[in-house]
Amino acid sequence: MSWEVVIGLEIHTQLATKSKIFSGASTAYGAEPNTQACLVDLGYPGVLPVLNEEVVHMAAMFGLAVGATVAPRSVFARKNYFYPDLPKGYQISQYELPIVEHGELFITDDEGDEKRIGITRAHLEEDAGKSIHEGLDRSSGIDLNRAGTPLLEIVSEPDIRSAKEAVAYMRKIHTIVRYLGISDGNMQEGSFRCDANVSVRPRGQEEFGTRTEIKNLNSFRFVERAINYEIERQIDLIEDGGEVVQETRLYDAAKDETRSMRSKEEANDYRYFPDPDLLPVEISAEYIEDVREQLPELPDAKQHRFVDEYDLKNADAAQLTISRPLADYYETAVAASEAKPKVVANWVIGDLLGALNKEGLGLADSRISAEDLAGLVTRIHDNTISGKIAKQVFEAMWSGEGTADEIIEAKGLKQITDSSAIEAVVDKVIEANPGQVAEYKAGKDKLIGFFVGQVMKETKGQANPGQVNQILKQKLSD
Ligand code: ADP
Ligand code: MG
Repeated sequence: MSWEVVIGLEIHTQLATKSKIFSGASTAYGAEPNTQACLVDLGYPGVLPVLNEEVVHMAAMFGLAVGATVAPRSVFARKNYFYPDLPKGYQISQYELPIVEHGELFITDDEGDEKRIGITRAHLEEDAGKSIHEGLDRSSGIDLNRAGTPLLEIVSEPDIRSAKEAVAYMRKIHTIVRYLGISDGNMQEGSFRCDANVSVRPRGQEEFGTRTEIKNLNSFRFVERAINYEIERQIDLIEDGGEVVQETRLYDAAKDETRSMRSKEEANDYRYFPDPDLLPVEISAEYIEDVREQLPELPDAKQHRFVDEYDLKNADAAQLTISRPLADYYETAVAASEAKPKVVANWVIGDLLGALNKEGLGLADSRISAEDLAGLVTRIHDNTISGKIAKQVFEAMWSGEGTADEIIEAKGLKQITDSSAIEAVVDKVIEANPGQVAEYKAGKDKLIGFFVGQVMKETKGQANPGQVNQILKQKLSD
């Protein structure tokens, strides 16, 4: 039997506000436990939440960026449940009337084609605190610093068909929220995490299978692994005559498996009702138009522009537009260099990103500025050095030895373009290899590579390769 996988993601992204969604306490990460929770976050009686306007602005930006409807009126609701990290006994969220509905985005699917993923809704809510078990003896600690941190929960349609597509979708959302500057997207710190709903059905069947929900996945790798494990588990279970039960599961990264956490709650278990302490959020059409005007160029638009304007391959444009700082780096380098944008792209993607990855560094830690990289590429373009020597210069730049011009000068790496100098070396090589010359003349054309190699060796790679080729061919045909 052939199975089809169905996945829907619920992504929680922390919004990058200075203060919390309903209080003035700081949202900064990493403070001493319980130093950033005020009476509102602690759920004291008699205090009232006040909505942080910034979160409305951020949610509206997101909604417009994914082509969604930004609701003129949305309502905060209480989602009631008991848990030690939720002192009020309810989480303030949005339920029936979320602020964002009916959006979409496009990913590249497993076949390499563009695929639409629907976004059902995105709603505002507050984060809960954290339970801490590590380093405590037979007790748990509660840190409420995170309580009340604003979250945007982004719910996808069940349009995703593989773990890879799920990762592509999650990456796209990650890129969008960072382009908009509404979240730092820091996954280690839990600012960007997702719950994956997974089911399988016999291929061709219309009805969805029973789903399980894997909670709190906080890395792209874990999302892919947890979903793949869960797909296998469900298929094995059904093929062995069992049934999938609707439940919440946890992914254990150390064991690379998911396990049951609790049976799934139904919405009515939460006794949702509109929060009487908060007014409905009303947004005017004018406000929405203002937000629309302020939107930055978004990843897809930037990618298409890079293809058109710089004549890049789609895949390269996609890679260069993965973050705004990288796209800006590239465009700065293009503007500062005389070389073709395509050549600059190769250096940024291949050499610069390669060097950064090798050391696990981010772009902000790059040892070579966009202007300096442009300086290097320009020296290839104007034939001062060959592409091969440029690799050597790049290494030296990376090690902090100076700009391309300084290094070329200090190490005497300038390309030899003087044809009489090249001719002299060519003559020497021809004289030293009579056997190969005879073979070449007898028709073994491939030997040209051998001669080029010899000349390059003699000139320490500094002879202009085009000239070497031309002079060699000419002399060998004499
Ligand atoms: P709940 O209210 O229980 O969280 P929702 O209807 O809001 O459930 O759906 C939550 C997520 O689960 C959505 O992303 C949705 O696309 C996804 N989903 C719903 N049904 C299925 C299914 N049968 N298989 C996989 N994902 C599903
Ligand atoms: Mg849900």
